[in-house]
Amino acid sequence: MKKLITFFALLTFFVAMAQANEKIDNFTYLQSQGAIPARLLESLNSDDDEAKVVQSLVKNGRLIYGTELNSYVETVAANLLEKNQDLFKKLSFYIVKSPSVNAMISNKGIVLVNLGMLAQITNESELAFILGHEISHFVENEGKKKKSTKIVSLNSYLSYRQNSREDELEADKQSLERYFNASPYSLQAIENVFDVMRYGYLPFDEIPFTRAEVEQPFYQYPDNYFLANVKQIRSRADYVDTLSTHPNLQKRQQNLDRFIERNTDSGSEFVQSKETFLYVRDLARLECINFYLTWHDYGSALANILALRHYLPNNRFLEIAEAAAYYGFHKHKNDGNIKDVVEPYKEIEGEKQQICYFLSKINKKEANTLAVRKLTSIIKKYPDSNFLRRMAADAMYDLTKENNLNLEDFSDFAQGLNADSIKATLQINDTAKIDEKKDKYSRIRVKKGTKQLVLPNEKFKTLNYMLVDIKQDSIFQSLYDNALAEIEDEEALAIVSFEKPVIQANDRVLVWMPQYAKYKPKTQTTTYPKVGNATLKSAIKSSTKSLHIAADVFTEDKLKSRDTEEFNRISLVGQWRTEWRQISFRRMQMYMQPALQTGFATSDYRFINLVNEGGERGGSAGYKWSILYRAPLCWVTLPFDLLIVAIPKMDKTLYFSLYDIEKGEMIVSKKYEQSEIDADAYLNQALYNYYYTLKNGRKITGK
Ligand SMILES: [Zn+2]
Repeated sequence: MKKLITFFALLTFFVAMAQANEKIDNFTYLQSQGAIPARLLESLNSDDDEAKVVQSLVKNGRLIYGTELNSYVETVAANLLEKNQDLFKKLSFYIVKSPSVNAMISNKGIVLVNLGMLAQITNESELAFILGHEISHFVENEGKKKKSTKIVSLNSYLSYRQNSREDELEADKQSLERYFNASPYSLQAIENVFDVMRYGYLPFDEIPFTRAEVEQPFYQYPDNYFLANVKQIRSRADYVDTLSTHPNLQKRQQNLDRFIERNTDSGSEFVQSKETFLYVRDLARLECINFYLTWHDYGSALANILALRHYLPNNRFLEIAEAAAYYGFHKHKNDGNIKDVVEPYKEIEGEKQQICYFLSKINKKEANTLAVRKLTSIIKKYPDSNFLRRMAADAMYDLTKENNLNLEDFSDFAQGLNADSIKATLQINDTAKIDEKKDKYSRIRVKKGTKQLVLPNEKFKTLNYMLVDIKQDSIFQSLYDNALAEIEDEEALAIVSFEKPVIQANDRVLVWMPQYAKYKPKTQTTTYPKVGNATLKSAIKSSTKSLHIAADVFTEDKLKSRDTEEFNRISLVGQWRTEWRQISFRRMQMYMQPALQTGFATSDYRFINLVNEGGERGGSAGYKWSILYRAPLCWVTLPFDLLIVAIPKMDKTLYFSLYDIEKGEMIVSKKYEQSEIDADAYLNQALYNYYYTLKNGRKITGK
């Protein structure tokens, strides 16, 4: 009997492991599961500061519940608080889609654990200690007067953290004495827990980015595209922790070391299986890749893909993600703007520096061709991926339209080969020689029918050798021909489409969180006046109503009492909008598009409509990097962090865009400025005109 039980236990284990492997192999993105937790509904329905933080996470698509990550964290907390059941019941746990290594707790017991924390820890005990630390903060704050969570400026944020240094040491002490020491977790296993926080800014692993990542035997980039050495990772002794949410790591480390010395260790590193830990960590790591690609942070995306591919070779998600990263990078490079999408390499430590350096060195045409290369080779492996095909078509379109490159610009023979010796071995006829027996038409037919080989040319550079292996490939050729046909189609369509209605009678439009923002240059602050918001909302409603457009204006109050399917859809749109903010230029296949399409497949919505009044898109690139990675999120700055990318600079501007979910295209993206005194009336008129044009297919006459 006992043998039988062991057998079934083992069987269940292996089945579970096989399922886990399959989930890693077929990963797409994480989404919430099950019913919306009652605590979350409570937060969605209240309007205190903590609830607002939760709400802003929800509408930006960064909060997840009900996943295997959530249950993993909850189980660790339950193990830790085995003897403190009443305390455990006060807590609720959510995962935050953020790669920064952080966890936090609110005064109401809402525990937020970032993906980055789960992605970087090395065992289960470390998570237990970190949760214990947060829970100690909660217990300490309970009963104390509530701290204001209102953010005034970055300075007050820093001083808040300096004040909390003592609290940090105290929280560690409580975590160890009250919870950890009495738990099934191992003290020895957490001796490096502070390194997880110190080095959380580094990729999941330090894997060198070699030339083989981007080169082939038949083409090589100049040596100056690669660094001789990457910048050394600063040692733990040099760690500057002024900007950390949990400062004083040095002192905390000493205290921890002393505690470990003085206490006997009877716990285990893993209470749940090690395999479960690794599986949960992989899910978190893969989702971090989604985060980087949605934020168009291609240096981080590629560095972490490299680290993951090291032990997850042939993972479909990672392969597609890599191609998407090179494609996205090309789009920004082509636009002459990479400072927003690749961190400045000078400051970067470790292997990631080589990636960012290479991306800063490569030229526009090379970046475009590299994207075409990467996409084509991956499509051969996954020919059914519509997303890959769309990116490839777009990159090929750019190759011809933006970079004026034709197939004749790409050699069929490796870089460094001599044209004359190739001619001799292939016995290629001199193309200049004219066959006198042929007439004009048969000569043209011959030219069209035979794909002529392009020989190396002394003017050719690396770029011209980058397609040697795929140029004659049938998949490449059909993709390329389709892309060219699409260019013709689109040019024809551009002339006609203006006359055609875009929004048909049956199409539903989701007007996503219209917002009226006011920017004060003097104080450099942005406010969102309620009156302006209400006016804008009613202008949208009345315009769409009178034009018989089925539009639903989605506003914050609609976050309340939703089901999980809808919750996930909100999350997708939130993330999609984050990505849209990264695109200050016209056409690009958005990374969020396939997920959005899947998420909306069962809904009636065809379009997402963004309407904003206020000023220009702002927030400098450097700011983006510093907020995203240098300063981890905390309760105090959360709402502030989430606003960084949209700081309007001008007063009366109307932004209007319409995205076709089914087609995956931004149909309209317009900006209307009005600086006259009666600007509101003009803006309303412009808004009406946009809807009118989309519904009726032509411009209304008069102003
Ligand atoms: Zn703390």
